[in-house]
Amino acid sequence: MGKQIKYMLDEDKIPKKWYNIQADLPTPLDPPINPKTKNPVEPEDLAPIFPMELIKQEISTDRWIPIPEEVREVYRLWRPTPLYRARRLEEALETPAKMYYNWEGVSPPGSHKPNTSVAQAYYNKKEGNEKITTETGAGQWGSALAFGTMLFGLDAEIYMVSASYDQKPYRKILMETWGANCYPSPSDRTESGREVLKGDPDSPGSLGVAISEAIEIAMKEETTKYALGSVLNYVLLHQTVQGLECKKQFEMIGDYPDHIFGCTGGGSNFAGLFLPFAGDKLRGESDINTAGHDVQDLKITHCEPASCPTLTKGLYLYDHGDAAGYTPYLKMHSLGHSFIPPPIHAGGLRYHGDAPILCKLQKEGVTDAVAFHQNETFKAAHTFAQAEGFVIAPETSHCAKAWIDEALKCKKTGEQKTLLMANSGHGHFDLGAYEAYHKGELIDYEYPKELAEKALAEAPDI
Ligand SMILES: *Cc1c(COP(=O)(O)O)cnc(C)c1O
Repeated sequence: MGKQIKYMLDEDKIPKKWYNIQADLPTPLDPPINPKTKNPVEPEDLAPIFPMELIKQEISTDRWIPIPEEVREVYRLWRPTPLYRARRLEEALETPAKMYYNWEGVSPPGSHKPNTSVAQAYYNKKEGNEKITTETGAGQWGSALAFGTMLFGLDAEIYMVSASYDQKPYRKILMETWGANCYPSPSDRTESGREVLKGDPDSPGSLGVAISEAIEIAMKEETTKYALGSVLNYVLLHQTVQGLECKKQFEMIGDYPDHIFGCTGGGSNFAGLFLPFAGDKLRGESDINTAGHDVQDLKITHCEPASCPTLTKGLYLYDHGDAAGYTPYLKMHSLGHSFIPPPIHAGGLRYHGDAPILCKLQKEGVTDAVAFHQNETFKAAHTFAQAEGFVIAPETSHCAKAWIDEALKCKKTGEQKTLLMANSGHGHFDLGAYEAYHKGELIDYEYPKELAEKALAEAPDI
């Protein structure tokens, strides 16, 4: 027998509670603001579009929130997820660092996203709703929601950005296989869609327009609600199953991370992995044996695209969560809600803001952030695929870059650091992007600073 590579937990170790970092924040989060009244949002304001239980979770400061047994039953399909020691990559890099990654690509949709879509579908079903609407860009969130709604017998109506609908048909077929109805956005099914089509019948669409269409339907129909796949507190909460399992795996190994890396779009996958560790850091103690590591020394690094650099270049202010301006104002790092990022392949990282919880932790100095261009990230993903086999999502390639860089630094210094990467999903539907990389056709887009400045000038004065 060689050395151990995968660390697996039994199914009965699937967490029974989600971890809510709001209990451990040094000061409370700034509340979301109702754009009409300019006052903090009241639960009733959100009731037409979200189930009550999720609204409660959004504002809860309880440290632990029970995971319904029905949701844990579904999690059993792919959870607990494995923690890998990247021994082949360590050898290829000749690093003394210990490189670990948790692997969310084993879920049926192939990413971390069903950790929340399943929970959201469950609460909607429980509260008597019949249908969920949502938007999707490249289709990762849409397919995760289609999977979740199928399991609980709900309808799903998904607005997919028209450009992707035509260019990336496979995610759409996946959604349809799981029973969802998927429409190219702008569509003629909603007022917002028809308005855009009037101006440009061939509009390629945008996430902002697709969100408007999905929310419009949810507001019109009594038993239809809207679902969001990132950014909100309860989405991050549901994702903490990752970090909670991962801590148990490190306990099994007798190790604890020195440095955690993840890619951050809205921030849900990375938050899911690091929040339980960040809680240790905030409380100054861990519930597991940290094998001599001081929790205060833990470093946590967000990895984002240089062309959509929300944490490294954005301003920390109140802004809309969506381009259309339907959502409340959220306090976050933003490039402006009308900012349209360059068309990088990591579609999941093309978001103008970040989850308010993550922005707060960034401000408190609990985390830091770096930004990369797409060629260097695909180079890291290629190195990873050649050593470890798995072809990772273009989003994930951003943290692979930082993780590998740190391992190479350890090679110079001789440090045996424990480096953990959030491996959020596979890239099997993104092979076109890999092809472009292999052919040398990937563009490293500059950050469109003027566009962001213009968009930020429209941010509300609060
Ligand atoms: C959607 C997605 C992301 C980005 O979203 P976050 O909310 O920032 O996690 C990252 N990786 C994968 C594989 C995704 O599908």
